[in-house]
Amino acid sequence: MTNVDETPHRHVVVPGTAVLFGYEPTPVDLHLVPRPTRWRVGGAVRIGAVAGVLTPLAAVVPPHAPWALGVLGTGAILVHRRLNERFTVSSADGACPKCGGRLSAGGGRLRRPHPASCESCHNEFGIEVAPGAIDEISLDA
Ligand SMILES: [Zn+2]
Repeated sequence: MTNVDETPHRHVVVPGTAVLFGYEPTPVDLHLVPRPTRWRVGGAVRIGAVAGVLTPLAAVVPPHAPWALGVLGTGAILVHRRLNERFTVSSADGACPKCGGRLSAGGGRLRRPHPASCESCHNEFGIEVAPGAIDEISLDA
């Protein structure tokens, strides 16, 4: 089940569970921003362009090659991440599996499981997206 609204930053809520070994999983509502192909490719091109400008500048500094390769490698990783960021996590509503306190999820690219922590007991755990919950969400709406 998903709720879709058509605000400027399109935003969906998908069900998930907070999983901490040794404790009963708790339900979580994950708030996600679907990222259209245009957003992912546009961002990747900009990151690639910045890396392309910085690489020759970095290569001027002795010992030259390690700096240039470092900038190129970092750029490649960032391009790869941007191209694969199908959903960005904006927030999560749910309770900690251990103490029932409010949980908070880091933003950024949705990972599976997505890292979260408890604001009360500070345990770290993962949020699993319900199977199939995001498979039918159109990224290019
Ligand atoms: Zn807790």
